[in-house]
Amino acid sequence: MSARRIYLDNSATTPLDPRVVQAMLPFLDSVFGNPSSLHQEGREAHECLDRARSQVAALLNADPGEIFFTASGTESDNLALTGIIEARGGSGNHIITSAIEHPAILETCRSHQKRGVEVTSLPSDSDGLIDPDELARAFRPTTRLVSIMTANNVVGTVQPINELARIARDHGVPFHTDAVQAAGRIPINVQTQPVDLLSLSAHKIYGPKGVGALFVRKGTPIAPIINGGGQERGLRSATENMAGIAGLGCAAEIASAEMSAEAARLVKLRDRIIETVPDLLPNAYLIGHRHRRLPGHVCLGFAGLEGESIRLLLSLDEAGIAVSTGSACSAHHAHQPSHVLQAMGFDPVRARGSLRVTLGRFNTDTDVEAFLRVLPKKIKELRSIATYPITSNNQGKHYESHCERPAGT
Ligand code: PLP
Repeated sequence: MSARRIYLDNSATTPLDPRVVQAMLPFLDSVFGNPSSLHQEGREAHECLDRARSQVAALLNADPGEIFFTASGTESDNLALTGIIEARGGSGNHIITSAIEHPAILETCRSHQKRGVEVTSLPSDSDGLIDPDELARAFRPTTRLVSIMTANNVVGTVQPINELARIARDHGVPFHTDAVQAAGRIPINVQTQPVDLLSLSAHKIYGPKGVGALFVRKGTPIAPIINGGGQERGLRSATENMAGIAGLGCAAEIASAEMSAEAARLVKLRDRIIETVPDLLPNAYLIGHRHRRLPGHVCLGFAGLEGESIRLLLSLDEAGIAVSTGSACSAHHAHQPSHVLQAMGFDPVRARGSLRVTLGRFNTDTDVEAFLRVLPKKIKELRSIATYPITSNNQGKHYESHCERPAGT
């Protein structure tokens, strides 16, 4: 029998919680009705749809009428951006976003740019934070939307989202946040946070892949991007993915109930890695903010091995440990530097060199101990074959500064 694998890539995706699987099973079997049908089978499905909507709403302290199911976090992001732009007709053609967003936002902005929409991309500081003053300065009379992520998928930094959203509200501009990494991991309360639109995804919270949701505050003008039979109150046509939606609802309910205890547990495991790694590996440095970060998220660099991060990932994989070098999406661009690290001031070589370790519900102390045991051996092996030279610029005590900027940036 093969040894148990240790999965430390919970920002890429999470395993299904067995309770979520149980909630989904009836929809793959006996509960097959179309929620738009008027007969008993349809009504039964519709009740389940309502229940899942309430469960997701409760996670955000939203009204169930403000939750719209989609097929992914990506679709929620597309719907938020395109839906707001299309809803407002010809007036205003300016979006403010940040340089560290997920491609679901950046590529959508790029596609609008080709059609004449102007995009301001706010810079990040070396910790991955967006400066609220920069946002305040970026507004134009034509600004239609601000979209800034709650927590970054590559480095784990959590933005001062209340402050950013408040500034947008003061300017009378809707504020969208991509909370795909944050929802279910840190508290979100749309009653107290002036966020108008928020994206989330089931597979980041122990639910199934291919289902997401968009929160749209009541009264926010938004147009559909998928047209058809008028499901989801006309905003997102298509017969609902009932098993997926039931799974998302259950995952949201579990997250609501368990988040605070689970976050405290993950912070301990995360900090054990952050505090132990520099003792084991003096050339390691933490990327992202030391404290304003997701509970289970660690992003590390190893001076002199930045060009070897994929080799490091593969050698940890061989030892039974799954981590990533940035984000799952960037596996399609494995040899390209991370746009997030570049925006944080890393040069292109160092921007290829992160190791992302993300802990989740099913990780234990034993997993962390195993990782801390194996990592130094793998780094030592790589150092003996590394092709990228250690220079005075990338050597030394990096840990204190959270993120080492290359000279001159
Ligand atoms: N936004 C962020 C911040 C993400 O991390 C991801 C996925 O990694 C997405 C959006 C896309 O979500 P999905 O995989 O559900 O399309």
